[in-house]
Amino acid sequence: MDIKNKTILTGIKPSGQPHVGNYLGAIQPMVNLSDQASKSYFFIADYHALNTLSPNQSLGDLVHLLAAQMIASGFDYKKHYLYRQSDIPEIFELQTIFNSFTPKGWMNKSHAYKAAVDLNRLNNKDVDNEVNMGLYNYPILMAADILIFNTDLVPVGKDQVQHVEIARDIATRFNSRYKSDVIKLPNYYLKEEVKEVPGLDGRKMSKSYNNVIPLFATTEDWHNAVKKIVTDSKDNHTEESIKDTVFYKIYSSISSNEQNKKIVDQLVNKTIGWREAKDELLNIIIDRFQKMSEDYFNIIKDPALIDKILKDNALLIQPQAQDHLDKVKKVVGI
Ligand code: AMP
Repeated sequence: MDIKNKTILTGIKPSGQPHVGNYLGAIQPMVNLSDQASKSYFFIADYHALNTLSPNQSLGDLVHLLAAQMIASGFDYKKHYLYRQSDIPEIFELQTIFNSFTPKGWMNKSHAYKAAVDLNRLNNKDVDNEVNMGLYNYPILMAADILIFNTDLVPVGKDQVQHVEIARDIATRFNSRYKSDVIKLPNYYLKEEVKEVPGLDGRKMSKSYNNVIPLFATTEDWHNAVKKIVTDSKDNHTEESIKDTVFYKIYSSISSNEQNKKIVDQLVNKTIGWREAKDELLNIIIDRFQKMSEDYFNIIKDPALIDKILKDNALLIQPQAQDHLDKVKKVVGI
């Protein structure tokens, strides 16, 4: 699909430090899509984060981290919009309007709620154990996030398609109930599937497995991570068996085809061993992520500047949100 003339919108919950898998699977594709779109709204979903935040986490700090990560990763906040969800209170007013006519049954079917219920059943707990109303209503808030800005496309992975469909259903229901076309119907934009990046132990790279290569880090951190990549002591490797190793799967997700071919040749012909191969991987990580990391560490040093960027961006778009909300309120008679 051509997104050149489209307005796209993405929200991410702030959740701490990303790893290389997050960058390749989510952050980089998001920055690339924004570069193609006519307008891109990227918001830090702090109200969504409240649903799952533990008391010892600082929401303010997490917001700063995510903003700094997006800026360091190349999100162009001067051309597009990078804002805190909570800086646009119109979103929450719109959600309240939507609450009044969104059927409860739609929420019962939402994936996020169903997943929590299934987990509770599995553990022989009450189905609604630890389910708060924020999680239950989250598709309605997401609809308000999307619909407030007349979004054309919402880039999502397969698991989020349903939520965009709910936003579309809410928009359709509103327009038909009030015989109006004040709410624009959004579409989802299915993101290209990015191959899963394995972690240091071969399972999916994930913070919960403690097997990550951090994205924003020092050479020493990367060196320590790369050292831990599991390798074998097999003597005779073929091209095929090298390509099946954890090392190669990590290496090839970061490197160019040329580099991949070269390292396979070297390992098969034993002109290098795993130690040199890991040094090579470290060099590639440094090449790809060092500059970004330095930018990140510079930005994160100045939370006041981050706040200013987020606030300035929010002020640019709040009049649009206000204007649209006024139209919706007029239609419902408020
Ligand atoms: P998470 O914080 O684990 O929910 O990850 C956020 C997003 O990062 C996911 O929706 C994926 O798009 C991407 N991601 C996470 N882990 C990986 C991985 N190991 N390989 C590729 N993409 C990943």
